[in-house]
Formats: sequence, C-alpha cells, structure tokens
Amino acid sequence: PLCSSSHQGKKKARRTEAAGSPSKIPKSPTIQEQRDQLPIAQGKDALVREIQENDVTVLVGETGSGKTTQVPQYLLEAGIAGKGMIAVTQPRKVAATSLASRVAQEQNVSVGGLVGYSVRFDEASSSSTRIKYVTDGMLIRELLSDPLLSRYSVVVIDEAHERTLRTDLLLANLKTIQKTRNGYTTRGKKGKEPASKQNPLKIVIMSATLDAEKFSKFYGNAKILYVQGRQHPVTIYHTAASQPDYVDSALRTFFQIHTDRPPGDVLIFLPGQEDIENLEKSIKLYADRLPKETAGVAVYPMYAALPAHQQQAIFSPPPQGMRKCILATNIAETSITIPGIKYVVDTGKCKEKRYISRDTGSGFDTLLTRDITKSSALQRAGRAGREGPGFCFRLYTEDAFQAMPLSAEPEILRCTLTSSILQLKCLGQDLETLDFMDKPDAESIASALATLYLLGAIDDSKTLTKLGRNMAFLPLESPLARSLMASVELACTLEVLDIISVLSASSKLFVDNTDNREMAVEARRKFRHPSGDHLTVLNIVKSYEEMSESQGKSGRREWCRKQLLNERCLIEALEIRAQLRGSCERLGIDWHVSCGEAEQPVLRSLLRGLVHQAAFLQPDGSYKQIMGPSTVKIHPGSSLCDKKVPAIIYDELIYTTNIYARGVSSVPRSFIAEVSVLNRRRSG
Ligand code: ADP
Ligand code: MG
Repeated sequence: PLCSSSHQGKKKARRTEAAGSPSKIPKSPTIQEQRDQLPIAQGKDALVREIQENDVTVLVGETGSGKTTQVPQYLLEAGIAGKGMIAVTQPRKVAATSLASRVAQEQNVSVGGLVGYSVRFDEASSSSTRIKYVTDGMLIRELLSDPLLSRYSVVVIDEAHERTLRTDLLLANLKTIQKTRNGYTTRGKKGKEPASKQNPLKIVIMSATLDAEKFSKFYGNAKILYVQGRQHPVTIYHTAASQPDYVDSALRTFFQIHTDRPPGDVLIFLPGQEDIENLEKSIKLYADRLPKETAGVAVYPMYAALPAHQQQAIFSPPPQGMRKCILATNIAETSITIPGIKYVVDTGKCKEKRYISRDTGSGFDTLLTRDITKSSALQRAGRAGREGPGFCFRLYTEDAFQAMPLSAEPEILRCTLTSSILQLKCLGQDLETLDFMDKPDAESIASALATLYLLGAIDDSKTLTKLGRNMAFLPLESPLARSLMASVELACTLEVLDIISVLSASSKLFVDNTDNREMAVEARRKFRHPSGDHLTVLNIVKSYEEMSESQGKSGRREWCRKQLLNERCLIEALEIRAQLRGSCERLGIDWHVSCGEAEQPVLRSLLRGLVHQAAFLQPDGSYKQIMGPSTVKIHPGSSLCDKKVPAIIYDELIYTTNIYARGVSSVPRSFIAEVSVLNRRRSG
C-alpha cells in the first residue's frame, strides 16, 4: 500500500572504481586511517606545492573527497600559513560548527583551541586558534574591524559554487585585499613585484561542481586543480508522473526501500525544516507499526537551524540492526558528507531566498519552495555512491529533470542588498564600483539604497550616517538594527533586545499549525498583549526567565510544551541576547535601560526599523501595504488575527493562497507618518 509512486528504472553509469574486497568485515579504521584513505590524501604533496607556488588556487573535487576537512590541515602542517590563521568560509552556520568539531577531533584537540569556528551569535576560538571555520557573513563582518584581514594568511572560500551573496562580496573584496597585501603592480601575473610581502595573502577557492573556469578567470586565470573523487555507479529512477505531495511520496518511497531493499542508509532531500519535521513524525509513526521481524528505523533530521548537539548524531552509525534515515535540506548536497548512504530520495525541491520587488510584493527577501537545478539533482544522486554502488529515487519525472535549469542564479542577482550595501559603505566602498563576478542590477541597488535612506542609515547624498555605522556594527539585519538603535533613544533597550533576540532566532517561537491552533491560542492567552505579537513575545520571554530561575530543565521544557512554545527558540534567543548585549556594550549603549510596563516606546522603536513593513486597514478588513502594492491579511496564528486595527507592522509576509503578515502589532497611524519624517530628518 505504501508503494504507489512507481519508479521507472534508468541506469546511469558514473565513474566507477573497484570497491574493496567486501568479504571480510573490517574493523573500523582509526581517525588517522580515515584521513589517509580520503581521495585527496593521494594528491596531498602536489596540492600543497601548487598552493605554495600560487597566490590563488581553485580546487575542484567531488563532495566527500576531503577538501574542506583536509586542505586546511595540510596547509597548517606544511607551514604555509606562517604565523597567521587559516579561515575557511561556509555558507551555513551548521556546516561551519560541525566541520570545526570534526577537524578538532582529527587533530585530537577540543574545539576553540587550535581549531575553532565563528558564526553569527556564536564563537569558539582563542589566541591559539590557527584554523577557523567561519560563515561567509562573519568574515565580511571582520572586514569592518580589519579591512585587510591581516590576521589571516590563508583564506579558503569553500562551497564557492553556491554563489551566496556574501561569498560574492568576499570574492570581490579578497581580490583587492590581495593586491594590497601582496603588493602587486600588475594583476596577479608572473611579473608581479613583491613590494610589501611581509604579510601576503593566499586564496584558495573550493567548489564541488565543475564551474571552476569562472572563478579562475575572475582571479586572473588562477591555477585550477582537480581532486579525483571516489564515485561508484548510482542507478537513478524517476517517477512516471509528477508527485504534488512530495512529502507523502517520500514517505512511501522510503518504506518501499526499507521493506524491499538490502541494508544501507537512506538520505532524503526535502526543502525545509517544516517538511522535515512532518516527515520525521510520519516515518516514526509507520515504523512503529512495522512487523517485528523488520529492521527498525532511526530517523535523523539535518537542517540549518538544528541545534549543535544534534548535528553530530547523524555521523554516527545507527543502533545495531537499524536502518538510518536522514532527512536533510540541501545542506547535505555538498556541505556535509554523511557516511553509509546507499539510497537517496530526492523530492526535487529546495528553498530559495528571493527578493520580491516592491512593485509586485513585499520589497524584501522571501524563502520560497521551488524546483532544484540539474546541478543540485546530480549532487543529490551522487550522495548515494560514496562508498559503493547506490540508488537514487527522484520523485519527479525524467522530463522534469531535463527541464531543470543547469545551475542556480547567484544570490547577488536575486536577493536584497540592503545589509550588504550598508557594510560596504562602512568599508568606504560602493556596490556600483566594486569588481564583482556578476554585477547586481541597478534596480535592486536603488531599492536597497531607498531602504537605507528610509532607515536613516544614509543621507540624501548616499553618505553613511553615524546611525548607519552603528547599525552595521550590530550583527543584525538593517531593520532590526534600526529598531535597536531607536530603543536607545526611547529608553527601552532592555525590552527591545528581548523581542529582537526572539526574532533573530533560527526557529519560530510558536509551534502551532492549523490542527492545534485553537489550543495554542488558548494556552497562550495569559501572555497575550492587546497591542499584538511583539509585546506578547516580550511577556513570554519575561515569564520564561522568571520560571527558569525556579524550575529545573525538565520543568522548563514541560512549561514550554504546555504553552505550545518552542523552547529551542527561547534558549537560542537568550544566547543571542547575551551576544547583542555585548555588542551594545562595545557601542557604549547601556542595555539595562527599561521602560517598565510602558508599551509605546517599544512599539515606536520597532516601527522605526519596520516602517517599510507597515500596512493600513482597508474598508474590507484587509490591510494595504504602505510601501508596495499588496493587500495582506493577518496570519491566523497572530494574536491580532480577528481584530481590526487602523495600522499594523509585521515581521514577515507568508505567500500562500493569500498573502499573510506574520508577527503583527497594532500601531497608531500617526506613529507611521512621524517615523518616516523623523528618519529622513535625522539622516540629513
Ligand atoms: P569535501 O569537502 O571534499 O566534500 P569533507 O572534507 O567535508 O569533504 O569530508 C571528508 C570526509 O570526512 C567525509 O567522508 C566525511 O564522512 C568525513 N566527515 C566530515 N565531517 C564529519 C563529521 N562532522 N563527523 C564525522 N565525519 C565527518
Ligand atoms: Mg566540503
């Protein structure tokens, strides 16, 4: 009954290599043996030599060949980093932290010593740190205090093929930095003059796909090196018909594999956390009902917001006699390699951040579920053939695969540039003049500049204001940074920090859905603030903290469960708050300043950042965006859901059959006019 999504077989041979003798059961190799067995280990000496000789090297290799974990260690061991540090950038936080712990383990040290990491709101490093895994965003942040990145002698830009906005910003900046530090008179050519080579910079660009030429060209025809991967054949199946309910289809396909196919772990690619959590529940439910003689199923989720202690679990073997099933986002495409995978189930979906222009919608980035690219589909299939021949079940038709675009558009061409432009302004740079691999279009630059002007971060001659400089210093997106700065003026920093910290957490505080919504609303009635969700969040944070002091860990968990609150979000929010309080102190801001029970200063502060996310009530009960053409409804999960108030601000828009505003507060109409005038005046 679970096997309705019929798959048509189509064999697709990929590069083959003789597998080792399968007859004897080997004892598990030590961590050093594992290192030596990685494909990259064979080319170690040549690799080190090339990097030694070239200022810029582009390294291409299959996922799992050992690029990310080994190259930094090789460079350190060969002394190429000199006295400086090696930075390795990652597009995702969860990859940076998990790689740091793996490499620390390989070096037999604890994380934060020789090997560390630095991601937004979390850092583990010390004066002895030599290899640091960082998110690309964090390294850009470091540019603000150290414009030449002088602490680093090697910067490794990893996962470059993903072309995140921040990776592109780094690639552009590193080019200039290298010119300065290595003292070129000509562009990276052989005839360069080593004018000031006391602290030269080496750049290594690593990519899992074969798009190396473009990087090489950008860096004056840099040397390209290829690591031969270890890829076994993967048999690929497509469905006969498209599968609109891909979660259900994935469920069926998983149990089809589990009941019919020999042992081997399963990796299922889904677009996001919500689908992962739903599928996890369903698989567990069905697994419990399997006949006793069938092997059990151990399910592990893997997505960007997963708490650190849960990440490491997916790398360990499953409990004896069980089949491991990993539910992952595209993070498992190239960023992390999970051993033991024999079967891949690919829903063909991912989430993509895309800027919805102000003319047609929100005027900011929205995460949309969409079809993947050919390049992603190939990467996903490849995950099944790391250790032996594997199988990939695509939950889409072969025609759908053929119709996929080759690779994704770089983020710089489709995302909001607001925060990036602000950071560049602090570096005395302009997007318009920087040398990019792909230049952003004029319309999105103009729109970002308009937002910055509205927030008071730049003045009418596009010059950075003092306020703008402070905003850029805060590890927050520009609108929330603006709210925090406003709270200083309106004497309610303590309260605003509580709210902003929750908004900055990677998971949502409210875990309700259409099924349990009434129950959730009821459970949280006591926290409800008449002005809406922001002050409701504040009430929850306060209650949680009061309760945390008296209750133990299990008491807190139980409390959150009862109120249908996601404790993970609260725990993270408190960590974020501690970080933000530190940032405030460095800016000379006293974060203890409180407005007590007063709500107006808090709403006013929030509004100053979210002024472009405001809407006015219409006669028909919907809300019309102030900046933008859309009419929005208040999300059913909001405490203001069935209220009619003259004007609202919101945290985000959700696009379903309607456009819903989520995280909504009621604000007096007069505040809105006041704020836009004020922001403008201040910027002058
Ligand atoms: P690449 O960057 O070329 O994709 P990596 O250096 O990330 O390759 O991975 C090399 C090997 O290290 C992989 O086979 C993987 O199994 C192992 N590995 C990486 N991270 C971890 C981890 N956190 N725990 C256990 N093994 C890991
Ligand atoms: Mg890698």
